[in-house]
Amino acid sequence: MCRHLAYLGPPVTLRTLLYDPPHSLVRQSWAPRDMRGGGTVNADGFGVGWYPGTGNPVRYRRSGPIWSDPTLPELAGVTLSGAVLAAVRSATVGMPVQESAAAPFAEGRWLFSHNGVVRGWPDSIAALAGGLPVRDLVTLDAPTDSALLWALVRHRLRAGASAVEAVTTTVREVAAVAPGSRLNLLLTDGVSVVASVWDHALSVRVTGDAVLLASEPVDDAPEWQQVPDRRWVRAGTDGVHLGELG
Ligand code: GLN
Repeated sequence: MCRHLAYLGPPVTLRTLLYDPPHSLVRQSWAPRDMRGGGTVNADGFGVGWYPGTGNPVRYRRSGPIWSDPTLPELAGVTLSGAVLAAVRSATVGMPVQESAAAPFAEGRWLFSHNGVVRGWPDSIAALAGGLPVRDLVTLDAPTDSALLWALVRHRLRAGASAVEAVTTTVREVAAVAPGSRLNLLLTDGVSVVASVWDHALSVRVTGDAVLLASEPVDDAPEWQQVPDRRWVRAGTDGVHLGELG
C-alpha cells in the first residue's frame, strides 16, 4: 500500500523531505515498515507536487521506482517549497502501472493522494461513480480506484464543498458501499492539508510552524504522533484539528 506525505511550513528543499531523513519517503519506497493489505515495496511509480511560491502547484511524476530516478535527486536539491505532497506507489493487483496513475492527482490549486484500496473495485462503487458527470468518467486520470476517488473528491470541491467535507463525505460513502476498503486520503491546496485515516497508518509531526503528515514517521523525532483510526485531520496556519470519521 503506497506511502505518502504532506508538508506545510517554512520553505525547505524537496531533498529535505524525500531523501535526507533516516526513514525518508525514498527509503520507505523499498523498506516500508507498515505495509498492509499486500505489497512489499512501492516501486510502481511516484509523484511529487509542490507550490512554487505563487500560482498552482507543479508536479514531477514517473511510472518507475523513485529510488532509481536519475533526475529527482538533483531537482530535489534545488527546489524549495513551503507546501509539498509526495507519494510512492505500490499498484494494487489488476491496476495498471503508468505515470498518470501515480499521485498526486491535481486540479488548479489542489493536490490529492490515496493510500489504500477500494474493495470490490470497480463494481462496488459503480453507483457512486454513476453520480459523476460522464465527462469526469471518460477523462479519469487512470483506470484505478485512486483516480476514481479523486474524481469523487474533485466533484465535491468543484461544487463548493470544503476540503474536510469533500474528503469525509467521500470516505464515508465509499466505506459504506465497499466495506474493508483502506481509505487514507491526502488533499492540499498549499495552505492547509486534509487527511483521512481509514484502516491505514498516518502520523503527524508539528515542529515550530511546520507540520508533516506521513504514512510512516520519517525520523525518530519525539514530536511524532500516530493518528488514531477513523479520523480526519486538518492542518493549517491555525494548528492541527482532528475529527471522527466512523
Ligand atoms: N489502489 C491504489 C493504486 O493501485 C493505491 C495503492 C496503494 O495504496 N498501494 O494505485
